[in-house]
Amino acid sequence: MNAPENFNEQTLDESTMTSFDHIIINANIATFSEQHSFGIYADNQANSIPYGQLENAAIGIKNGNIAWIGTQGQVTAYLPKYQDSQITDVDGKWITPGLIDCHTHIVYGGNRSNEFEARLQGASYQDIAAQGGGIVATVSATRAASIESLFAQSEKRLIALMKEGVTSIEIKSGYGLDLDTERKMLTVARQLGEKYDIHVSTTYLAAHALPPEYKNRADDYIEQVCEWLPILHSEGLVDAVDGFCENIAFSSDQIRRVFEVARSLDVPVKLHSEQLSDIGGSALVAEYKGLSSDHLEHLSEEDIKKMAASNTVAVILPGAFYTLRDTKLPPIEALRKHQVPMAISTDCNPGTSPLTSLLLTMNMGCTLFYLTPEEVLAGSTVYAAQALGLPNKGRIEVGYDADLALWDIARPADLAYQMGLNPIQGIMVQGQWRDTI
Ligand SMILES: [Zn+2]
Repeated sequence: MNAPENFNEQTLDESTMTSFDHIIINANIATFSEQHSFGIYADNQANSIPYGQLENAAIGIKNGNIAWIGTQGQVTAYLPKYQDSQITDVDGKWITPGLIDCHTHIVYGGNRSNEFEARLQGASYQDIAAQGGGIVATVSATRAASIESLFAQSEKRLIALMKEGVTSIEIKSGYGLDLDTERKMLTVARQLGEKYDIHVSTTYLAAHALPPEYKNRADDYIEQVCEWLPILHSEGLVDAVDGFCENIAFSSDQIRRVFEVARSLDVPVKLHSEQLSDIGGSALVAEYKGLSSDHLEHLSEEDIKKMAASNTVAVILPGAFYTLRDTKLPPIEALRKHQVPMAISTDCNPGTSPLTSLLLTMNMGCTLFYLTPEEVLAGSTVYAAQALGLPNKGRIEVGYDADLALWDIARPADLAYQMGLNPIQGIMVQGQWRDTI
């Protein structure tokens, strides 16, 4: 494999090479770094190297960051200067950036397996709704849960994701639909990040559904959503703002009102768009230079161009497509054509995607949506970071956070190919290997 030219040009003076806190040696690395010729959306793809991969490579880590990347040969002479505990010999295994699940609803109360079973016994969605099921059931259970109970229910889902190498996650509110419960959800999200040493980006999704007490008063509810946002933001609970823009949820005009408040607070936006219909969600996100537009099965090419112009990430969610037995594929080919970066995520939620495996999600992205293994892995690393506005995560590059996943695989495509086998061997967060996975 040809290394890109700059691969050998980093400083090799002795003081640098003996200054690392930790060195990883004998690694094959999927960098997803343009500096190492990653470029699935590059204009001249002929010059790109799949996954930005480096073989027989080494990584120097200092102060929680990636301080140096080079060849095994470059580092060998300096290894006697290090203690054994500072060196990890990975014996030819693969390292990727720590995975990033950029669209989840993992904090919720109860679950809906009763509805799953009832539907398979012949009940209709209308029957279930009439009995207080659907999202209303999750809202009731989430409102009723104590903060401790909500934490305990949600941490199981977080742990399942972390066991597959997830080192950063986005967690949305949206099952409270009142100020106190939205706050409770976002607080639990923050607490999960603190307890488990995982990066958590919180997203305010009060514009998710109309709560029963606002029946036929959607505009009044949106007014409340707009009033709660600055309160929760001032409490440090909101990293981004989201909504559900659909015929069965909120119109683009209603979402616009929420986005205006977000803009006034300088909080980035994202949106559930074009999952079931096309009512202009992605165009609205692009107008507000949003981080991401998510779902997108019904997205038009015209709006893809707008997303390309605003550098908005397309977040693809095959778990919901699978659970709903949807048949309308998202416009993957047009997204490629216009070089819109694609991320992929579990969309873990109790109704349409009770999915806590990002590896299985990658497989679904390939099998259901014809994404390539390189695209789904890029969509769980570099572009997932972009979808969350995390400038120091998602690639293996000097200056980036040393969030890494170590895999016992023959090649990166194994991660999307295998179903149900977890080949994780180690997880590093901010330069520290996790003791247990
Ligand atoms: Zn969602």
